[in-house]
Amino acid sequence: MAQSFDADVIIAGAGMAGATLALALASGDLKAILVDPMPFENQLAPSFDGRASAVAFSSFRQWRALGVAAALEPLSQRIEQILVTDGRSPGASAAASLPFFLRFDASEIAGRTEGEPLGYMLENRHIRAALAEAIKAAGIEVLAPARVEGVETLPGWAKVTLADGRVLTAPVVVGAEGRGSVVRRQAGIGVVGWDYPQTGVVATVRMERPHEGVAHEYFLPGGPFAILPLTGDRASLVWTEKRGRGEALKSARPEAFHAHLARRFGAFLGKVEVEGPVFVYPLSLSLAERMAAPRIALLGDAAHGVHPIAGQGLNLGLKDAAALAQVLVEATRLGEDIGSLAVLERYAAWRRFDNVMLAAGMDAFVWLFSNDNPLLRFARGAGIAVVNRIGPARRFFMQEAGGAVGDLPRLLRGEAL
Ligand SMILES: Cc1cc2nc3c(=O)[nH]c(=O)nc-3n(C[C@H](O)[C@H](O)[C@H](O)COP(=O)(O)OP(=O)(O)OC[C@H]3O[C@@H](n4cnc5c(N)ncnc54)[C@H](O)[C@@H]3O)c2cc1C
Repeated sequence: MAQSFDADVIIAGAGMAGATLALALASGDLKAILVDPMPFENQLAPSFDGRASAVAFSSFRQWRALGVAAALEPLSQRIEQILVTDGRSPGASAAASLPFFLRFDASEIAGRTEGEPLGYMLENRHIRAALAEAIKAAGIEVLAPARVEGVETLPGWAKVTLADGRVLTAPVVVGAEGRGSVVRRQAGIGVVGWDYPQTGVVATVRMERPHEGVAHEYFLPGGPFAILPLTGDRASLVWTEKRGRGEALKSARPEAFHAHLARRFGAFLGKVEVEGPVFVYPLSLSLAERMAAPRIALLGDAAHGVHPIAGQGLNLGLKDAAALAQVLVEATRLGEDIGSLAVLERYAAWRRFDNVMLAAGMDAFVWLFSNDNPLLRFARGAGIAVVNRIGPARRFFMQEAGGAVGDLPRLLRGEAL
């Protein structure tokens, strides 16, 4: 790093993607500064983020390589199987064996994944706490609360202005500040996308019977309903509701919420008890037109916000972090200017296809599966049945969901930079 800069990389946004990038850069001896308008310790409050994430095994390998996984392992639930059902109501569809039924089993790809599960279920508050601890331990500078307000690119460097007037300089600025990215806007990068007329409702439940590491995804007419296993025979429920209905559920009396849940959840896992508050998230699709510009790179939701139907949003951001860190560290070792468009385009080219395909795929899924048209029901049912019968197709989907397909950055293979 040239003496006159504050850091090699200024990262706007200390969310899970931005924080992972800072750690990855530090592992390759690059200095990052994280900037976030929220006090960093706010991320540790249980009420800050009620979601849990299905973390692909390759994403988890990256955290292992960065020293974050040891704190997470005891809190993570292995996903051994995923059962996908196209049903009218989860209880009813789970009770009887339906003709269209898709089953992914970790043991089928164990040879290729060294016994890794299909993924790990982790509560976001635990991920955030582990990342915050690792950031502290690595001595990474975090400016929070502080908001990035302006980005000016100059030949050879960039200048970031914070809302309180402070100015920071670095050869590269990364926009990791989520869907409303200021860096993206300042770089003049457009965004395409739309809001879904749905919200994501998230609740944690304790179950009477053990879930045995099985994740269920039911495609109901109103949208997908997922039951995702958590440690201690709890589960994170994620389902989509029309906007007004989602808000009504959030403020419903516990008995009313419970009755609603019982109708969707069915009886197959025994009685359920809701733990903690119900969270409601707006759902939208947004794709940045480019992931790089001179001195600027975008990652995570700032580059691509997708529907949570297949639990891939965070995983995409973590893949971005692994790829960007590798490109910047290798460029430094080769003596290149890490903020030049030639270098940043290498990152964009590496990640663009995966991100666009996944965003488009999820969007098609939402349309195809949030629909009660009998013809569509038949078509998707037949599709599911075909995939289920063809072993290689099923194994491909499992590896794809695990993020182990394609040209993987070193950190996602569990290797150091
Ligand atoms: C209901 C639901 C369930 C989901 N389930 C899954 C799942 O199972 N698996 C999965 O992989 N993904 C899942 N996702 C998606 C995942 O949660 C997101 O993709 C992920 O949290 C995005 O992380 P991020 O770090 O890119 O952005 P964010 O989490 O949005 O973080 C952005 C950060 O930037 C900060 N910021 C904002 N403005 C500025 C500024 N001007 N300057 C500096 N900082 C700023 C914010 O304070 C914030 O801390 C789900 C999403 C939803 C809604």
